[in-house]
Order: sequence, then structure tokens, then C-alpha cells
Amino acid sequence: MRGFTDYRMAKRALVREVSEGQRPVSDVCDAHPELLRAARNVGTAVDQDCPICELADDRAEVARDDVALRQVIYVFGDSLRRRSGAVVWNRAELGDLAATHTSFTAYVVECCLVCGWNHLIESFLLGTEHRR
Ligand SMILES: [Zn+2]
Repeated sequence: MRGFTDYRMAKRALVREVSEGQRPVSDVCDAHPELLRAARNVGTAVDQDCPICELADDRAEVARDDVALRQVIYVFGDSLRRRSGAVVWNRAELGDLAATHTSFTAYVVECCLVCGWNHLIESFLLGTEHRR
């Protein structure tokens, strides 16, 4: 994928800082209400545990439910005009946008519905300009 950036390293570093007590949980569980709403309504459930809930659950020995972590896709770019900054509902819609616009960036953000953890996971370039 063109212009692909993976932010998982940054995510791991951040989670480590929280687990070591160098950074308060409130720093990383600060999902904006709009992001939470998007995650709840149109987010894709991820087959992974929220890293922050995981830390808390491990300490409290609580069983996890794994439906709380969602991914939301945002798109930004001049060629999208008024849709720049919008939430994309699913990969099919993303494909449609890629076929009908010259260039834009998609950002995949994960968000936990329970604790509000949120982090950028990856970004990539899409659009007719970037087709192989
Ligand atoms: Zn969580």
C-alpha cells in the first residue's frame, strides 16, 4: 500500500509507559465524544483486547470481553472536498472513495468503548493517483 505508516510501535511504547506508571491512564483514555460515538455506531469490532483494559483486568483478575475495541477510519484530503475529515463506514465505502477521488489519506484509529483508549493504528494513501 502506498504511503503506508504503521503506528503500532508508538502504541506499544505508550502502553508500556502506562503500565510502568510513567503516564496516567487519563492521558491515553481521552477519546473525544465524537470518536466514541463513531466507534460505537460505525466502528469495526476488532478481534483484540484493549491494551489499557487488559492492564486493569490483569490487576483485578477480571475476565475480559473482547467486543469493546473498535476501529474507525477517517479520510482526509483536498480531493475529497467537503468529505475531508469524514468517517468512512466500511472498507467497501473506502474502496468507492479510492476509485472516485485522486488522492487522500485514510487514518485507522482504534478506540475502546469501555475506557476510552484511542490510538492511531495506521495511515495510507488512496485514490486514482496511487493505483498500481
Ligand atoms: Zn479499554
